[in-house]
Amino acid sequence: MTTSLRHAALQNYTTAKHDLANVPFKEKPIKDLFGAHVFSEAVQRERLPKPVFKALQRTIKQGAPLDPDIADAVATAMKDWALEKGATHYTHLFQPMTGLTAEKHDSFISPADGGKAILEFSGKELVRGEPDASSFPSGGLRATFEARGYTAWDPTSPAYIIEGANGATLVIPTAFLSWTGEALDKKTPLLRSMEALSKQALRIVKLFGHNNVKKVFTTVGPEQEYFLIDKAFFYARPDLITTGRTLFGAKPPKGQEMEDQYFGTIPERVLAYMADVEAQLFQLGVPVKTRHNEVAPNQYELAPVFEDSNLGTDHQMLTMEVLRNTAGNYGLVCLLHEKPFAGINGSGKHNNWSMSTDTGENLLEPGDTPHDNTQFLVFCTAVIRAVNKYAKLLRVSVASAANDHRLGANEAPPAIISIFMGEQLQDVLNQVMELGSAKTSKQGGSMELGATVLPKLPKHAGDRNRTSPFAFTGNKFEFRAVGSSFSIAGPNTVLNTIVAESLDYIATSLESAIAAGKDLYKAINEMLPTILKENARVLFLGDGYSAEWHAEAERRGLPNLRTTPDTLGVILEKDATDLFTKYKVYSERELQSRFAILCENYVKTVNIEGQCAAMIAKTMILPAALRYQGQLASSIAALKGVYDKVPATQTELLSNLVTAIDAFQTATAKLEHALHHHAEGSLHDHTLHARDHVLTAMAEVRKFGDTLETMVADDLWPLPTYREMLFFK
Ligand code: ADP
Ligand code: MG
Repeated sequence: MTTSLRHAALQNYTTAKHDLANVPFKEKPIKDLFGAHVFSEAVQRERLPKPVFKALQRTIKQGAPLDPDIADAVATAMKDWALEKGATHYTHLFQPMTGLTAEKHDSFISPADGGKAILEFSGKELVRGEPDASSFPSGGLRATFEARGYTAWDPTSPAYIIEGANGATLVIPTAFLSWTGEALDKKTPLLRSMEALSKQALRIVKLFGHNNVKKVFTTVGPEQEYFLIDKAFFYARPDLITTGRTLFGAKPPKGQEMEDQYFGTIPERVLAYMADVEAQLFQLGVPVKTRHNEVAPNQYELAPVFEDSNLGTDHQMLTMEVLRNTAGNYGLVCLLHEKPFAGINGSGKHNNWSMSTDTGENLLEPGDTPHDNTQFLVFCTAVIRAVNKYAKLLRVSVASAANDHRLGANEAPPAIISIFMGEQLQDVLNQVMELGSAKTSKQGGSMELGATVLPKLPKHAGDRNRTSPFAFTGNKFEFRAVGSSFSIAGPNTVLNTIVAESLDYIATSLESAIAAGKDLYKAINEMLPTILKENARVLFLGDGYSAEWHAEAERRGLPNLRTTPDTLGVILEKDATDLFTKYKVYSERELQSRFAILCENYVKTVNIEGQCAAMIAKTMILPAALRYQGQLASSIAALKGVYDKVPATQTELLSNLVTAIDAFQTATAKLEHALHHHAEGSLHDHTLHARDHVLTAMAEVRKFGDTLETMVADDLWPLPTYREMLFFK
């Protein structure tokens, strides 16, 4: 009798003890932890010479060019502060196109006379780092022998301290560029897109007379969904370890149909984990706010208070890292994959997005009477036009092999990009389109609850809609198609750039009308109805999952790019190149490199999954099935020896098993064939091969593998089941 990994895992699960109390919240209130590890504005004010502090703040708050003369002073203050916090090393943290973060640590120590050491950190070291760039994906931007890459200090995202068991490190957020100045990362284009949007938005804000505004920020509040499963099961699943998702697993008797998980009581171990994650993020200045159970079993969510898009993006990367790294201490594994389990909800990242002035005004705040908030209507129209005109770019910004399992499946937003404005605003927009301007705004009123002890609740003027990929929710838009494992930099870069283009279009037309002597409001009343009518096809209030909507969307001519290979070509289309080069967000070469990287990434992901599925099929599932076949056959043979009427049910059982194993082996052979066959042709052709041959063959292998799971004796089954992974807390 062998012990399978699964049985060891079950044993481990039932006997493991976890130390849950790791946050000394009684000794140190959480609010005192906030930002304790950040070289924050308060720390900067305290430690920097006044003129240096002011110059740095001008760059951070108003986008003024960085004064190179302040670098030495900032570096010294940063080093002293970090050393007091126990730091021994510093690192330039960057976000290469792997979608992860990368870091190389350098010690502060320099050898000095007399065999001693001194601690040094210069302005030069703060401003520029030089990691070897040759082993990061560059999509052809550089050859391997051209190894030079630079990291450049991003002063707008504060440095912070990461504590390890044996020392702390000063982490400096940076951009990552090639020797030729091309962006090799995700931060640089994001910062460029924020500047592009700021420049165009300022033109409009100024038309409305707000001359004191110096900068417009985009803001982001990303809600992160994730799964937690027991670590013991994770390590018994080669597919989860290698690919982040289960490639096999029969439907459990109970899935999410009882709808008893969403907002349910948070299990004790999970709550302890969440509190630990939050305490760490608080120290790092990440304003986490909300936690709850999500829809699928063992699925959870965390959301922060929104911040400027660059800082919010850095904080999102940190959040994913802390979520992943902390789980182990609680005997858990955090799965950030978009679809770790088939047949139940996947995980996304709702990207809440808005625009805000440096004077604190949210430009997408409609107020109580949006019909007479002209400035809001202008900004809102700009977004609607952008999303309609560049829907394909938004779609490609969320494309990946993993997210393909989610988008368009029945729980996530469909791959068709549409906008839900809510009843009140849709009505206002309809008035603008029909009458030239809006006269009224529907009001929500209040709700009578029928029990006098309960308070009267003010009611919103429109319901919400969970099926829309791009929904207006109060004073922000929520882009819901982003995948849970994504860096939000890409989707926000696209969003900022397409809206910048719309704002540019509107500002140009208004400025010329005004130059010709027209009144601002008159010019707006003439322009908005036209733009809205041209783009109204993207507005949709109904059920985004329904078949009727798919048909309707097709009639409206909205693109429906179902899979990643369908979308990637969009990056190279003329529209995209014109847009991104005009606003200097991506150069043509940078776009080509992103296309190449995304194609390669898709093909590699699918191939790794295919290899892993074939391995599990041949070395885990097939042996279990053959053992069971052997047991059944010997049992029938033994029965025949002593009993002359072997029931047909038993021989049928054997015969069904033999048939299922045969189908399983045939499917596995077909998968291996697809994996070994190399597609000819372009990068894009390779993605099609991966999708149409490898993925389809994997689905077939899985189908028969899952059938075998329902037939083979449970004590022989080698893989932890969905029932175990999803329901053991
Ligand atoms: P829900 O969408 O469930 O109603 P909230 O309204 O609290 O939840 O917002 C969800 C997320 O949206 C939070 O992360 C929040 O910080 C973010 N958010 C709120 N306002 C803005 C804004 N102006 N810009 C960007 N994100 C925002
Ligand atoms: Mg939300």
